[in-house]
Amino acid sequence: MSELKFIEEILEKKKERLINVSDRIWELAELPYNEYNSCDILIKELKKEGFSVEKGMAGMPTAFKASFGTGKPVCGFLGEYDALDNLSQVAGCTERKPIEEGKPGHGCGHNLLGAGSLGAALVLKEYLVANGLRGTVIYFGCPAEEGAGSKQFMARDGQFDGVDFVYTWHPSTINQVQSDRSVAIMGANFKFKGVTAHAGASPHIGRSALDAAELMSVGANYLREHMIDQARIHYAYIDAGGVSPNVVQDRALVKYEVRSPKTAQVKDLFKRVVKVAKGAALMTETEVDYEITMAYSDYIANSALAEVADEAFREVGAPKWDEEDYKLAKAYLFSYNEFTLKSIKEYIIDKYGEENLSEILDKPLDSIVHSYDRNNTKYVSGSTDVGDVCYAVPTINFNVATACIGNIGHTWQKTGQSKSRIAYKGLLTSAKVMALAAIKTMNNPDVIVKAKNTVLKQNGGAYECPLPDDIEPPIGKY
Ligand SMILES: [Zn+2]
Repeated sequence: MSELKFIEEILEKKKERLINVSDRIWELAELPYNEYNSCDILIKELKKEGFSVEKGMAGMPTAFKASFGTGKPVCGFLGEYDALDNLSQVAGCTERKPIEEGKPGHGCGHNLLGAGSLGAALVLKEYLVANGLRGTVIYFGCPAEEGAGSKQFMARDGQFDGVDFVYTWHPSTINQVQSDRSVAIMGANFKFKGVTAHAGASPHIGRSALDAAELMSVGANYLREHMIDQARIHYAYIDAGGVSPNVVQDRALVKYEVRSPKTAQVKDLFKRVVKVAKGAALMTETEVDYEITMAYSDYIANSALAEVADEAFREVGAPKWDEEDYKLAKAYLFSYNEFTLKSIKEYIIDKYGEENLSEILDKPLDSIVHSYDRNNTKYVSGSTDVGDVCYAVPTINFNVATACIGNIGHTWQKTGQSKSRIAYKGLLTSAKVMALAAIKTMNNPDVIVKAKNTVLKQNGGAYECPLPDDIEPPIGKY
C-alpha cells in the first residue's frame, strides 16, 4: 500500500473526530493564554491515542507537548488554538452576524490549525506502529500566537532541542508550501510619568505625560521616512491619562510594535524608537520607562525540507471542491465591500492571470497546488512565532485553502468560513500533507542532515531568542 493510501485510510476513520475537535475549539473561541478548554480538548484526544503529555511548559499554563514513540528521528507538529477578539460570527453565515456582539471568534482559523496538526500526529503514530518503526512524534500545543506568542518562550526553554524537523500549516486561501518570509517583530509598552496640576489655573506646574506620548507619536512618524521599506511602526494608546481635560495628565501608556525583515534589524529599529521616547520625555520634562512585551524572529522556509514538502503536497493534491463549496465561497467573496473587492481582484489578476479572473470570481476556491517558489526572497509584513521555531529546528509551513480566494484574514468572514464545509476539506488536506511530508522526511536521513545544516547556517550555531532573558510570558497582561 502506498504511504498516501495508508494516510487516507487512517484519516477516513478519524475525520469525524478531527472535525468535531475543530468545531468545539471554534465554539469556545478562547483568547490568547486563556485557551484552557481548547488545549484540554486536544490533550484528551492525544492521551486517548497513547501520547504522553506534559503541560504548562515555559511558564505558560496552556502550552503542552504530547509525545509518542521512541528514539530518532523526532518529528514535531505545531498546533495553535487561540481566537481573536470581536470576531464572533455565526458559522457559514455570509453576512455580518455575531453570535454574541463584541465576543471573540476564530478569525484566523486556529481551531482548524490545532485539529489539522492533531490529525497529522495521529496518522504518523499509526504509521510508526503499523511498520514497527523507531521514531518519535511530538505535538507541540502552542498558545497565544495572536497575543505575545509562545513558541519563542518554548524555544528559549529548549523544548525543541533534539527535534529533527517540524511541520506546521496555516489555514489560507491557497495551496502552497510557504516560501514568503515573514518579518521579525518586537513590542513594548512605554509608560510616561508627569505631574498633575489644574490645567487652567496652574498649567505651568503640570508636566503632561499625554503630551509626551503625543510627541513620541510625532517623532515615530518622522522616523518612518528614514527606515527601510519593509519596516513598520504601529502604536496604540492604552492609557491617555484619564478623561478630564482640565487636569494635566500625569500618566500615559502607549503600546508599540515594530517590524523589520531580520531580527537584528528589528532590534536596531526598536532602539531608535526608544530614543524617540526619551526625546519626548526630555521635551516635556516627564519620565519614561519601557517594558519589552513580545518579540518574534523572522520566518524563512527550510529549503531542504521544502523540496520534500512540495513533493508531498503535489502528491496529495488540492482539496476537492464541489458546487456547494463554490457557492458558499462566492457568497463570502462578494460579502466584501466594493473597495476591498477591487483590491482582491487585483490580487487575483496578479496571482492567477487576468484571463482567469472571471472564472475565479465565479468559483473562488484554489483547486491547484502551487509549486514551492525556491527563488522567492520576498518578505510579507506579517509576523509569527513560527519564526522562532525555524531558527531552532528545520521547519516548514504549509498554506492550505480553507477559505475563498482573496479572503482577508482576521475578519468575520474568516470566522464564518472556519466552521464550514470548505474549512473541513482544508483541515483534512493539511493532515494528509503534513503526515506524508513527515513520513518522506523520516525515510530520508540525508534530507534531515541537510535541513539541520541549513538551520545552523541561519542561526550561527544556536537559537538565540529575540527577547531578553528576564522577559516572562505576559500571562494575564496581554
Ligand atoms: Zn494565524
